[in-house]
Amino acid sequence: MLNKFTSLTLNISASIAISLVASAVQAQPFRSAEPGERVHRYQIQIGEQIETANIEICFEGKAPEYLSIESKRGNRDLIKYPQSKQGRIEIQGRYWKTKFLPNNACLDYSVSLKRHHAKRTKESKSRKNIAYIETNTWLWLPETSKEQVDISLSFELPKWASISAPWQRTQLSKKEFLMGPQPQDWGYTLLIGDFEHKMSPISPGHYLNIATMRELPKKDKIISWLTNTAQSLENYLGDYPTAQTQIIVIAKTKMKQGPVPWGDFSRGNGFGIRFVIVPGYDIQEFYNDWTVTHEFSHQLLPKIHYDDIWLSEGLSSYLQYVLMGQSGILQKDKAWHRIYKGLQRGEKGTKKVTAEPLKETSGRRKSGGRSGRTMRIYWSGALYFLQADLALRQQSEGKVGLNQILLKLNRCCINGEKIWRGQALANKLDQLSETKIFGILYRDFSNSEKFPKYQSTFKQLGIAFSNTNESNSKVPNSKSLKLKIKQDSFADKIMDAASK
Ligand SMILES: [Zn+2]
Repeated sequence: MLNKFTSLTLNISASIAISLVASAVQAQPFRSAEPGERVHRYQIQIGEQIETANIEICFEGKAPEYLSIESKRGNRDLIKYPQSKQGRIEIQGRYWKTKFLPNNACLDYSVSLKRHHAKRTKESKSRKNIAYIETNTWLWLPETSKEQVDISLSFELPKWASISAPWQRTQLSKKEFLMGPQPQDWGYTLLIGDFEHKMSPISPGHYLNIATMRELPKKDKIISWLTNTAQSLENYLGDYPTAQTQIIVIAKTKMKQGPVPWGDFSRGNGFGIRFVIVPGYDIQEFYNDWTVTHEFSHQLLPKIHYDDIWLSEGLSSYLQYVLMGQSGILQKDKAWHRIYKGLQRGEKGTKKVTAEPLKETSGRRKSGGRSGRTMRIYWSGALYFLQADLALRQQSEGKVGLNQILLKLNRCCINGEKIWRGQALANKLDQLSETKIFGILYRDFSNSEKFPKYQSTFKQLGIAFSNTNESNSKVPNSKSLKLKIKQDSFADKIMDAASK
């Protein structure tokens, strides 16, 4: 499953894509199954109050051995047990043995969705229902098999209701999807009910699939901000990493920790990003917040083993400011200043914890003791990618940067079911860049007990420090620190707009 989406969606010309959005009538496939690939079809009818789902599944060719579900609670929510006119289905807890069914058989069942309804608060009283599904208790799916089978899901919803999923929409005008190959238990959010949904075009063939609450203030500006952020990622990489990214915007009017107090990224069945926003802030403050560029950047790496998450958090921490520098939201020296301050936080965090190699830090953080470790994880990883970026540019005399290698990685290795170890990812990046940069740095970083040195990295980037503090201290103090970037230096080039 290598970038199935891209080849198809690239065929849609810019004008068609734009007119589709404008009219939303014409049916043009976004994504369809590969020729020769089997498709199991799910027809899903959602009840008038989003309280029930009637599901009919028709298998193409041989039925799977089992259908299964993530959570045992699914059985408790069954309204009608699965039945097939063509043969026998054995129920074994959360597994349904379907292997006795003949070819091209269908089955149907009904399930309650009430468990997933959001609690009514004062703010939501005026709304109709929303099912907010984060655990699959309702959709029985074929047990993963080596055989490549696509799952198509077609929804019939009440007229007032919308749907938001990380799945790939096959057409703009229809509520029909193909499920991505990434396992559902990697996390996902499915929303069905009373909210607004918009397919916002990033560039031809690439969309943000955005869910917002109906009454969200300055909605158009929020959607433009998200779309512009997606475009800054596309600008960095040279292409947007996927055909569709699901975005869910949750507004909390009373929070005070900045315009975007929280965001998270999930990969189950496709890419999904959730943001909590505080709409009262000025729109410029949204652009100045790093959370959104951070979460979008997570789309550039495949799923990484938990012990190595310093790599994925690191890339996002580095790029969150590079994207802001490239798009002009931050001036180049300000963007580098923020990266520098981040590294200082990482160094400080590392000193707070007793000496341990970086490869053990994530595991230890998980079992308590977050203090210091979070900053160490995020900013060690940021330094890893910064040093790799610099080394690539030095070795290629400025011809190759990290973005080009990440684009190659996107072409080969982002989708699918594999969870990568850090070493395997470093090897792959070495292979793609035809260097040994990533592997050598990986060994040094993962074994390091101290925060790696970065003063000379900044020197090689072409950044000079001047301290406005009269005390003339040699160690730059972040408050009084001024950065000066040499023209045409690597620091200058990295923040240059457009990688194309
Ligand atoms: Zn992150």
